[in-house]
Amino acid sequence: MVRRTNGFQKPLNAMQIVTWALLLALPIQFVFFATPLLPLAASIPCTIAVFLCVICTGYFAYKCCSIDPIDERLRCHLATESGGTYNNQNVTHGVHAESNAGPTKFCWVCGIDVHELSMHCKFCDKCVSRFDHHCHWLNTCIGEANYEYFFPTVGSTLALVLVHGSVLAWLVISFFVQFASNKTEYDDGSTLERANSWFDLNAGLAVAITNSVFLAVNLACISLLGQLFLFHIRLRREKITTYAYIVRDGQRKHEATRKNMQMGRQRIIAIGDAKKEGKPIRRFFLKAAGCPFVGEFACRPCDPLRLDEKKNKSRSEENQNGDHNVDEKEDDNKVPFEPEEQSNTVELGECPASTCGHLAANNQHENDSREETHETSALQNAMELRRQSLPDEETNNKGVEFIAVSKNEAKDETS
Ligand SMILES: [Zn+2]
Ligand SMILES: [Zn+2]
Repeated sequence: MVRRTNGFQKPLNAMQIVTWALLLALPIQFVFFATPLLPLAASIPCTIAVFLCVICTGYFAYKCCSIDPIDERLRCHLATESGGTYNNQNVTHGVHAESNAGPTKFCWVCGIDVHELSMHCKFCDKCVSRFDHHCHWLNTCIGEANYEYFFPTVGSTLALVLVHGSVLAWLVISFFVQFASNKTEYDDGSTLERANSWFDLNAGLAVAITNSVFLAVNLACISLLGQLFLFHIRLRREKITTYAYIVRDGQRKHEATRKNMQMGRQRIIAIGDAKKEGKPIRRFFLKAAGCPFVGEFACRPCDPLRLDEKKNKSRSEENQNGDHNVDEKEDDNKVPFEPEEQSNTVELGECPASTCGHLAANNQHENDSREETHETSALQNAMELRRQSLPDEETNNKGVEFIAVSKNEAKDETS
């Protein structure tokens, strides 16, 4: 596989060809199908606005594609290997010298140490400095060196399709309003009249259809680019890359799924307990809150498990405030019951192997210990729930065996 150094290098991508073809087609279509049909006062400023957007988009996209966002260490390594300069580039485009310093990690594909924030792109076959994502529309990687051109590329393209689409929308609407009015003769100032006189034949409907097709393309582009632009505004505000966002999002989803599973296990145990203790109302609320989708939203405020969690949390806070000064040594020896705080700890340290292999490898040992803590927390939750629902003397006599009994009951309940 050839290492990609810029967005114009072969093999070209079909999506990249569509990008550049659209960038040419939009102004040409505007000049022939929109500019002559607009009133003179609107025609000149709209055409200038469209061409300004095209020039800005072309410039930023060209810069974005031509700059190589390769990791600086890899660039130096390749330059040394080739006995000269890598890709005839000695200049580090927009990348400060500090990028070459700092913590490193080993890339098994490139075979060298690269910057910690660099990632290897399989499409470009190189490590990219502060990797954001690989853009198929530009056929190049977006990293630290060219991100400052990528963001205005998206912004100016969005401005282009907004201006172009707004003008076409006005033309199409005015066309069809005039068609719908069933006039046999039109005013000299009408859009249809201008279309017929420009093309020197009765081509009003054909022009309207052409403009409608381009309007549909514009609307699709506005939808996609609008979302992309807002997304990158958010990323810039949070000072993270697209890749980091995807990893973080994966972690959150993974943690939410695990929390739901843990809650489900607790619910089965609690339902079994409620049945044994003859508490039909509690059992009903537990079952209702456990109902998929509906229960999660409609019955959440009345969920006995969540109410118990709140109660336990406030009780443990009271204990911490009240008993801390009385018997500090005893507090040090016992394990506090704080399910909410423990789950938060796991959320920060969790790292899904499916989305972030290298991070998962680095944090595996740490995650294992947190996994154990989390499981212990689940058992403590169940024990605490059971203790609350039983008299004090029974609570003292029974212990972990409750869990085994309750689990067996739960299995019976579900079967
Ligand atoms: Zn690499
Ligand atoms: Zn790439």
